[in-house]
Amino acid sequence: MEILITNDDGIYAEGISALACALKKAGNVTVVAPDTQRSAVGHAITISDPLRVVKARRNGEFFGYASSGTPADCVKLGIKAIMKKRPDLVVSGINLGGNQAYNVLYSGTVSGATEGALLGIPSIAVSLDTFVNPDYSSAAKFALKLALQCKKRSLPAGTLLNVNVPNLPASKLKGVRVTNQSRTCFNDWFEKRKDPHGGDYYWMTGDYKPKDADQASDLNALRAGYVSVTPIQFDLTNYKFISELENWGLKL
Ligand code: MN
Repeated sequence: MEILITNDDGIYAEGISALACALKKAGNVTVVAPDTQRSAVGHAITISDPLRVVKARRNGEFFGYASSGTPADCVKLGIKAIMKKRPDLVVSGINLGGNQAYNVLYSGTVSGATEGALLGIPSIAVSLDTFVNPDYSSAAKFALKLALQCKKRSLPAGTLLNVNVPNLPASKLKGVRVTNQSRTCFNDWFEKRKDPHGGDYYWMTGDYKPKDADQASDLNALRAGYVSVTPIQFDLTNYKFISELENWGLKL
């Protein structure tokens, strides 16, 4: 199996190394990832600047291709310019921080996998639900299992798997739940500060502790200690609303 790996935390992040190491047991791994931190760039692509690609080494060995682009750029580059064979699977991660609920829309990690699905390749995004003391081992182990499942079965066109893993040792994980996206949002606000020259600047911050009554959601699965697997898609059309909107009788 040919596997393309990307992320949004950058090619030198701990999570992508854990993922690449695990997936080598499933096939031939090619890493194409951003040369720097690119979290929360969503599905951005680079169209007004050249895309640079250099070989990146970790622990003295060739690890992968570092690109000046976004995760979506990296997947496009990997498939259309760098890999000799078309990948059988695209895996993005392992992200430092969960990508559940509507956070998926901002996520570079998920967008890396979305780009793979757009190009017709089975794709998985993997995130670890913590920002402190990450232990990637459970998430990496599960990513390998899921990669092998994806090889055996197939995913519907236009659908990818969004995986979130609690930051727990394997023995503490309760199991795996197939979930839907929580309909909750990050509660964010801006801190107004002064720079050394007296100018104002803003820094976004916030918390993510929403109540969610939906027991089938990704958020509640994580809170209960389960690995969450959500099948997501990128056709954003609200089909139920089409006929009502037609009844508006929109005219020029
Ligand atoms: Mn990230």
